Amino acid sequence: MFKINLEEIQTLIQKKIELFQAEISLKSDYGKVIFTDNDIAFVYGLETAMLNEMVMFPNNVVGIIIDLRNNYVGVALLNNNFSVQEKDDVYRLKKIFEIPVGNELIGKVINPLGIDLNTKKIIKAKKYVPIEKEAPEIIKREKINFPVETGIKVIDSLLPIGKGQRELIIGDRQTGKTSIALDIILNQKNKNTKCIYVSIGQKNSNVANIYQKLEDNGAMSYTTIVNSSASDSITMQYITPFAAMSIAEEWLENGEDVIVIFDDLSKHAIAYRTLSLLLNRPSGREAYPGDIFYLHSRLLERACKLNKKYGNGSITAIPIIETQNGDITSYIATNIISITDGQIFLATDLFNADIKPAINIDFSVSRIGSNAQFSMMKQVSKAIKISLANYHEIAAFSKFDNSLLLDEKTKNIITRGKILSEYFKQKESQLFSNVKQCINLLLINNGLLDFVYSKKINEILDDFFIFLENGHPEIINYLEEQKTFNTEIQNKIIEIFRNFSITKF
Ligand code: ATP
Ligand code: MG
Repeated sequence: MFKINLEEIQTLIQKKIELFQAEISLKSDYGKVIFTDNDIAFVYGLETAMLNEMVMFPNNVVGIIIDLRNNYVGVALLNNNFSVQEKDDVYRLKKIFEIPVGNELIGKVINPLGIDLNTKKIIKAKKYVPIEKEAPEIIKREKINFPVETGIKVIDSLLPIGKGQRELIIGDRQTGKTSIALDIILNQKNKNTKCIYVSIGQKNSNVANIYQKLEDNGAMSYTTIVNSSASDSITMQYITPFAAMSIAEEWLENGEDVIVIFDDLSKHAIAYRTLSLLLNRPSGREAYPGDIFYLHSRLLERACKLNKKYGNGSITAIPIIETQNGDITSYIATNIISITDGQIFLATDLFNADIKPAINIDFSVSRIGSNAQFSMMKQVSKAIKISLANYHEIAAFSKFDNSLLLDEKTKNIITRGKILSEYFKQKESQLFSNVKQCINLLLINNGLLDFVYSKKINEILDDFFIFLENGHPEIINYLEEQKTFNTEIQNKIIEIFRNFSITKF
């Protein structure tokens, strides 16, 4: 295989076009392969073909037109079996690439061609839709004002994600990115939400483990996995997130809530860069093509919350980006940060210090803010934000831990900060309902745990919640329904905790 050189290729293509010109009328529905390399082919003819249209090569190889030039087109091969050769005939299928959608996909692991990867059979669906679609207009949309309950304490209280929001998970390799995404899916059980886990360029064995985890936890009953692995063609990897969005949109139009996780868009960007370089497009920063921003913005723009008139459904998009050495200023990372409504930043140093989930709160943000929280969560999270801000301000002192030198007020701030830091530690798959989180935070804010050895905090709070569930289910029911605290309920919970703690410590 020879290396691609811009000028060489242009002359080569020009020469071949001259050869074919006599043979093919430009208006015809078939063309001829001028040149092919890896997962792409240049095809002469097909003058009337459209962008994203499918074409057929010999041996059932299917391609998608992704580049329209003056008198030839660039085609990305989907199921490349390396049989395509120069001068092969290419036929238009006069169809934009489509994916099956609907409830038939729930519980399945599919590829973007609509093949069930467990049975290796094509999914039979009632409906097929193109993989690219315009994002809903502003007039159809509504303000984001309802939370996606993630079950992850630090996210639900400090970095709330709203239904219809786009929130990025960003961090180095092995910092817990996928785990957070999977926990969000696990927490959607019985919440009338459908989930799509989109895996791009991962090893098949990884995807098998993810499937198993979701299956074992009963989450596949509302989840679809759309997968193109590292061993699939780069074209497949390129179309995978778009296909997943189309699947989500079908449910959206039905008025349903959908969460789509893209794991990850760094690999997607690399696949697109490879395709673009093979297609001989000019490259820009970090060798990515000029339209890489547009590629991801048109994908993520399809996330939305629709208003009542259009069924009130939502698509929440959670893309993942892998960074190198915590550098969030790389090209793709900055692009996605600017497209999304916030980011959850995972840090290797926190992960290594066993602070998990390793979310660096200072670098993380959710621009939807408390608009997407239940009123009870708003009520308790304000105080913890202040406590944490105060704590971070004087955290440097606490390293000395010389309590003799600190005044009472500073000591209290440090105690509260330490308690909160410990409280936010959470194991994988151990998810907390909003009600439980709010009760915990109410107690912390009222100083009821200030005298407890901080490592014991979570154990005590867990025990107390079980105690409350058993002894006072009416309180839990009230909060689950009303989603707000009143003074009476607050005082009651505090009083019950006081009595509980007398028996405990
Ligand atoms: P990669 O870059 O390889 O995709 P990642 O950032 O997606 O990695 P994960 O695969 O989610 O990271 O997690 C890495 C490891 O950390 C896994 O072994 C996982 O079990 C563990 N882990 C993640 N979150 C937690 C947690 N909250 N508590 C304990 N262990 C965790
Ligand atoms: Mg991962």
